[in-house]
Amino acid sequence: MKLPKTLVFLALLAGCAEDPGEAAKTEDASLILTNARVYTLNWDEPGLDGTVMPNAPHDESGWRPDAEAIAIHVGEILFVGGSDDAMRFRGGSTDVIDLAGATVIPGLVDSHTHVFGLGALLDQVNLVGVATEEEAVALIVERAKSVPKGEWIVGRGWDEGAWANRYPDKALLTEAVPDHPVFMDSLHSFGGWGNQAAIDAAGITAETKVPVGGEMRLGSDGRPSGLFLNQGVEILRHAVPEPPRETLTKQLLLGLNQMAADGYTTVHDAGLETRAMSILEELKAADELPIRVYAMLSLRDEDLIRKWIEKGPDSDSDSMLVTRTVKAYYDGALGSRGARLLYDYADQPGHRGISGDGYGFNRALNAEAMKAGFQIAIHAIGDAGNREAMDILESVFQEDPSTATNRHRIEHAQVISPQDIPRLGQLGIIASMEPPHAMEDKTWAEQRLGSERIHGAYAWRSLREAAASLTFNSDNPGSDHNIFYGLHSAITRQDKNQQPEGGWYADQRMTADEAVRAYTTWSAYASFREDKTGVIEAGRWADLTVMDIDPFLLADESPGDILGGRIVMTVVNGRVVYKQ
Ligand SMILES: [Zn+2]
Repeated sequence: MKLPKTLVFLALLAGCAEDPGEAAKTEDASLILTNARVYTLNWDEPGLDGTVMPNAPHDESGWRPDAEAIAIHVGEILFVGGSDDAMRFRGGSTDVIDLAGATVIPGLVDSHTHVFGLGALLDQVNLVGVATEEEAVALIVERAKSVPKGEWIVGRGWDEGAWANRYPDKALLTEAVPDHPVFMDSLHSFGGWGNQAAIDAAGITAETKVPVGGEMRLGSDGRPSGLFLNQGVEILRHAVPEPPRETLTKQLLLGLNQMAADGYTTVHDAGLETRAMSILEELKAADELPIRVYAMLSLRDEDLIRKWIEKGPDSDSDSMLVTRTVKAYYDGALGSRGARLLYDYADQPGHRGISGDGYGFNRALNAEAMKAGFQIAIHAIGDAGNREAMDILESVFQEDPSTATNRHRIEHAQVISPQDIPRLGQLGIIASMEPPHAMEDKTWAEQRLGSERIHGAYAWRSLREAAASLTFNSDNPGSDHNIFYGLHSAITRQDKNQQPEGGWYADQRMTADEAVRAYTTWSAYASFREDKTGVIEAGRWADLTVMDIDPFLLADESPGDILGGRIVMTVVNGRVVYKQ
């Protein structure tokens, strides 16, 4: 690819870009941010136990920012340093923004999202945070008032983990909403709930064949109850008419713009199928993507994977849309007891969940994609799921050693047996984890796992200490992607109500330096972009997040206040894509 002029210019500057006198002669900034608390992260990363490195801007009195201004030329950072020096890059058409003491960090990356799902959630019936079936039905009744009879009502977000001991069924929903087929996806898509009209529209009966690894609950009358679990959800989901392309495009942009407003400069989308990819490609070609997208192709879409195996992974890492990753699905979720465990569930003797072939994992296609040079991001939750996923990756490394260096990822890496913890680091596999999951699952995770296995669950510190690379993310829309919630969860191991006191298995906490890096620097590494972003430095992408709190200071002084943070501005590729 042709190098942008700025890059050539900066390459020529090689090392002296911080001399404003030198650079100002030849290049005006397009944007200058002044009067900020800039944490560049341009210092050595903390030790595996969290120790702050000597060249970090930190001493006995705590953290302090290491710059106050940034000059940007088009898509790249030109200068980082003091406000007066930055102003020497000002030209006739330079925008100057006084940030009035706000904090700037490298552009946030949410390294595991479902941005179409987020957009759909913003567009459909939203059951996130709804506590009971009755409340959910009331919301669906409300929506039904504006939807013509006979048309589908779709929504998502009821919590299959929190609701596991009192799953909803069709009875109340059918009575309240008799004239519209209703499909309500769960928070993590491991549960589906419908009314009688939906069951009829889908042609589902007690005799309907349930996919391997799935479940269709039957009522006391022997007929489908309206509740479907794991792969069984597909029976009902497939009956919902595909939304038209314009609806999906609208929802994608809703999702991406929401992420921009929430401070994210890049999302990694964990599992895209043919239609979603073509919409992303279309928006990219029209330069309409507000933030960067790192696409993961769904291994479940064999035609799409075959097309990409033929073409090979993208090598253009400058793009707003890069595709070099395949998302594989290895086992289910812990909440709905689909995650594959080495031993029985503590709260369901005789049951160990489901994985691999039983979960529709296409091992041969996965190996082909690896050998074609793709990074694999494999979903694994249970300790058996994680062990088997590592075994599978390792066996391909042995067949073809060139596959070993592609920074494969285990998505969630949620429960890991103590004997497997060192393997991630040894195999160079990245643990891609969600701090909010630990906080949301803590009420039932120990019931599923018991008091021993819980120590290998959400074990960020143990994984770091075993030299595994981490990247943090939200897995939205299943979890709230609010960065202040994410950082707070990572730093305190406390939920939004600051419970429990002292933190849940607090020895697994991250420091502020680690938590911020896990959403920036380390996410850049997980996407092969550590030379382009993740650190604020001349010559890198102008991707920046501005917030009204200083998470470094608050982590030491009053971590609970991190939750109250707000995004002030988001800059992507030198463009202000969100401003408060
Ligand atoms: Zn996901």
